[in-house]
Amino acid sequence: MDKDIQRIRAEFPILKKQVNNNLLVYLDNAATTQMPQVVEEKIKSFDENYRANVHRGVHTLGLMATERYENVRRQVKDFIGAKSSKEIIFTSGCTDSLNLIAATYGEKNIKAGDDIVVSIMEHHSNLLPWQLLAHKKGANLKYIELNDHQELDLKDAAQKITSSTKIVAVTHVSNVLGCINPIKELAQLAHKNGAVIVVDGAQAVGHFEVDVRNLEADFYAFSGHKIFGPDGIGVLYGKEQLLNEMPPYRLGGEMIANVTRTGATWAPVPQKFEAGTPNIEGVIGLGATIDFLKDFCHIDQIKEHEQELVEYILPKLQSINGLTVYGPQDPTKRIGVISFNLDRIHPHDLATALDLEGIEIRAGHHCAQPLLQTLGVEVAARASFSIYNTKSEANKLLSGLVDAKEFFKNGFK
Ligand code: PLP
Repeated sequence: MDKDIQRIRAEFPILKKQVNNNLLVYLDNAATTQMPQVVEEKIKSFDENYRANVHRGVHTLGLMATERYENVRRQVKDFIGAKSSKEIIFTSGCTDSLNLIAATYGEKNIKAGDDIVVSIMEHHSNLLPWQLLAHKKGANLKYIELNDHQELDLKDAAQKITSSTKIVAVTHVSNVLGCINPIKELAQLAHKNGAVIVVDGAQAVGHFEVDVRNLEADFYAFSGHKIFGPDGIGVLYGKEQLLNEMPPYRLGGEMIANVTRTGATWAPVPQKFEAGTPNIEGVIGLGATIDFLKDFCHIDQIKEHEQELVEYILPKLQSINGLTVYGPQDPTKRIGVISFNLDRIHPHDLATALDLEGIEIRAGHHCAQPLLQTLGVEVAARASFSIYNTKSEANKLLSGLVDAKEFFKNGFK
C-alpha cells in the first residue's frame, strides 16, 4: 500500500509544496481535496481543442463538447449505480443539488402538518433548505438524535419516521463525526412510511463505493471538489419518475421544449434542470476525476487506507491529555474525518499553530452548528485524511498538537 500511496502522491504536485518553510501536510480534505494533474490536463485539453457551448448549434467543436459532456453523464451514472443517465443532473455542487430538491420536490409535495425528518448531524446545506421549507409550509422539522456512541440513533429514527413523514434528509457520512450512516435501513424506513429519502453524499462519494440503487436512495447529492475534482461542479441523482414529476428549478435557456408569448413547456430530464450554460469545464474535469478514482486509486482501497490511518492515529490522539475526539471510537464505522478539541485552546489558535508547521487543518463550527450545540461545544478542530496522506503525516500532526499544547501552556521557551 505504501508504494501505492507514493504513486498516488506523485500525481498531486501541490503535495511537494512548502508552507511556512515546511513540507505541506494537507489535512483539510473534508473541506476540499487536492486535484491530480490528469484532471487539470483534461480541462486544459477542452480549452485548447474543443471549447464550445453544449447542446447548441451544429459545428464541430460544439458537437465535440456536447459528446464529451454527455459521456461524463453516462460515466457518473455508472459510477454511482444509477439506472439511467437521465437521472444525473449537473449542478454547481452538493449545496445546489440539495436546494434544488427542496425548492422543487419539497415545494410541490410538502403541506402544513407534514413531517420532514433530518438528522442532528446535518451540514447546514442539508438542513437550511428543509428548515426554510418547513417554515414556509407550516410543516414540522424533526431531528434524529445521536446515540451514546455519537452515531445516528436508529431507534430514534424508527420513532421519528412515521406515516406523517414526507421527506427524510440525511447525510451519508458526517463531516464532523466521520461516521457512516446506514442509508439503506433509513431508506427502507422512509419508504415503509411513504416518504422519500434525500441523501447528502458530500463526504461519502470518493471515499468508498456508492451505489444509489443498492442504497435505495431517491435523491443523492455530491460535489466534485471533494472527490479530487474541480470546484463549482456537483451532481444530483434522482429517480427518473420523481424528476419527471418535479417542477423546474431555474428557468432560462436549454431547459425548455417550447416557448410562446404566454407560456412554456419544459425539456425532458435531465435538461429540465440544467438551465443556462453549464459548467462544461467542471463536467469534463469530473469525468477525468472519476477515471482517476476508478483506475488509478481503486476506490475500494481509499476507505481501507483512511481507516488504517484512523486506526493508527485515534488511540494516539486520545492519549494526549485534555484531547476530546468526537464521533464513534470504532475506526471501522468512520472515514478519515476526525474532529476534536484540545484543553481550552481555541481551535483557531490550534489551527494557526499547526499552520506554522505546514499542517493544514480546519477549525470552526464546520457548518454544523446544531450538531456542535448537541456536543456541548461551539467550535472544534478537524483533521481529515485522504488517499494521499501517510502515517508520517499523522505523526507530524500528533507532534504538532503536543507542541501547540506546550506552547499555549508555557509560551515561548
Ligand atoms: N454536506 C456535507 C456533509 C459537507 O461536508 C459539505 C461541505 O463541506 C456540503 C454538504 C456542502 O458541499 P459544497 O460546499 O461542495 O456544496
